[in-house]
Amino acid sequence: MNIILLGAPGSGKGTEASLISKDLSIPTISTGDIIRDNIKNKTELGILSQNYINLGQLVPDDLVINLVKERLTQTDVLNGYILDGFPRTVTQAQALQSFSKIDKIILIDTNYDVIEERILSRRTCPVCKRVYNTKTYKSDFCEVCKAKLIIRDDDNKETVKNRYDVYLKETAPLIDFYKNQGLLYKVNGNLQADEVYKEIKQILQK
Ligand code: ADP
Ligand code: ZN
Repeated sequence: MNIILLGAPGSGKGTEASLISKDLSIPTISTGDIIRDNIKNKTELGILSQNYINLGQLVPDDLVINLVKERLTQTDVLNGYILDGFPRTVTQAQALQSFSKIDKIILIDTNYDVIEERILSRRTCPVCKRVYNTKTYKSDFCEVCKAKLIIRDDDNKETVKNRYDVYLKETAPLIDFYKNQGLLYKVNGNLQADEVYKEIKQILQK
């Protein structure tokens, strides 16, 4: 099954993706994680993306489309995959349709106050990319790989507002795009992660 997780920054796409990934044994493709790795490794894609990501703007469509297109040629996606953070524009969604077929789109519908609070208390493992929240997780180290958790460069109050505005303008139109194709399912992203996952599981079993 090929799944897209759609939702604002901080809606919990990464967290839910890792739960689905474990359950269905299919990989998650997070464009944000891939771009950040490229920035760390100073690749051409990383150098071209760095300013956009730090300002909370979208990386240009052609760069991200090529990245996903390339990633989907790897054999581990043959039994399905989860897209986290892609597509983020109608142009990206149209391109995706030309090289892969999506089965379900799950919209994680979340209020802005919840989003802001989550992003500002988010910590990320730089090694395995797991995300934690300081409200529920009290250690400074990843429970799996023991690496010291970091605050992402774009997880600050100014950028959060900007990323949300970009979401409303560029990404929210995808809701109608996929609704019209009859592929869109919605879950309540304001709930705790495990509660959200219960709703997602029901959708995946349909
Ligand atoms: P969040 O969902 O919390 O914003 P992500 O890791 O998904 O975090 O994305 C972080 C940043 O990476 C975005 O603000 C954007 O700059 C860039 N990015 C990720 N995916 C895309 C995409 N599909 N198109 C354009 N830019 C992207
Ligand atoms: Zn880790």
